Amino acid sequence: MKTIARLAILATLAAGAAQAQDPPITIDSHVDIPFDYMGEPRFDVGQPTPLLVDLGKMERGGLNAAFFVVWVPQHQLDDAGYAKAVKQASQKYDGIGRMLMMYPDRIRLATTPEQLMANHHAGLLSATIEIENAYSLGHDIHRLDAAFDRGARSVGLVHVGNNDLCTSSQPDTEHGEPAMNSAADTGMSDFGRAVVKRANQLGMMVDVSHASDACVHDTLKVSTAPIIASHSGARAVLDHPRNLPDDLLRAIAAKGGVIQAVAYKEFLKHDPAREAAEEKLQQAVAKAAGDTKYDSDKHDYLPAMAAGMAKIQQQHPLPTLDDYLEQIRHMVQVAGIDHVGIASDFDGGGGITGWADASETRNLTAAMRRHGFSDADIAKLWGGNLLRVWGEVERDAVKH
Ligand SMILES: [Zn+2]
Repeated sequence: MKTIARLAILATLAAGAAQAQDPPITIDSHVDIPFDYMGEPRFDVGQPTPLLVDLGKMERGGLNAAFFVVWVPQHQLDDAGYAKAVKQASQKYDGIGRMLMMYPDRIRLATTPEQLMANHHAGLLSATIEIENAYSLGHDIHRLDAAFDRGARSVGLVHVGNNDLCTSSQPDTEHGEPAMNSAADTGMSDFGRAVVKRANQLGMMVDVSHASDACVHDTLKVSTAPIIASHSGARAVLDHPRNLPDDLLRAIAAKGGVIQAVAYKEFLKHDPAREAAEEKLQQAVAKAAGDTKYDSDKHDYLPAMAAGMAKIQQQHPLPTLDDYLEQIRHMVQVAGIDHVGIASDFDGGGGITGWADASETRNLTAAMRRHGFSDADIAKLWGGNLLRVWGEVERDAVKH
């Protein structure tokens, strides 16, 4: 073998190698992907990319596994809207599939907790597939089975705006949807109940992040298995509708589930000045690109956006690891150490000072230690709890 080739291999191995302080597994339960994932060269995650999560960043940072998200935005609840959502979801499955096909020596699909650990022990990263907004089932329960067949192991019921399963924590009040927790907030629909029951039978985790409080209550009632919140915060620490109130943190824990604390700026710190500055930048970058409307997929990874965001970060810095740890500590206090986990929401708006992309993952582990968490606690937070819940969801499915 040529020396240069051998050195390149050694460098790759060193970059991906575990370090002494690493927990047994690190799982980030919410990583978004653009629609043209693995399509455009800039979204080829086997190469260095502008994305916050690519294979090199995961390997270097010690992030062993990610739940990659099949997200679709909410459109109208009609045939045209459903058809569009089904198509958009399919595009994302294809992107994840292309990643797995192109880089089998670096990342593998994990459809069971055992497979995820086996991948890790073999020195490979893991990808688990997660649905965000089950509107993309196109109001057809059979598509949940199809999603399971494509590898999806978690189903997020709803996103921003009510859908045909559930009311949202952020309903579209501008277009007449009733406010969360108002008298007209209907919670879960019959279709939503059918999806939860079928997910239970399949052994798919049910994810209540983005759901209204009423929908979380209904999910807890309907589901025979523990449930997850794949990326949510604590409302008692920061009052935001996307954050869960203490009673729901407790209820999810009482049913054996897990709440994956999310490193998302707006759920950790109120900063209207930063939000306004970001909005202004988005409009300016869109306009400079010749577009009338800002489109995150198209504009977020342009050099002008990166430069503008760096400037905003100087003036209105993102929340820090300490802000994030404060929420985690509250959640642990309320729900218990066995019921909290970690999510970044990278490439979906997530990322904070200190954990700005997957390459900085070890900073978070160090911050947990600084905040007094033991190695055993850290192992639970970084994936032990999530894998336990996933295993219980599988065991529950066998009973149906
Ligand atoms: Zn989300």
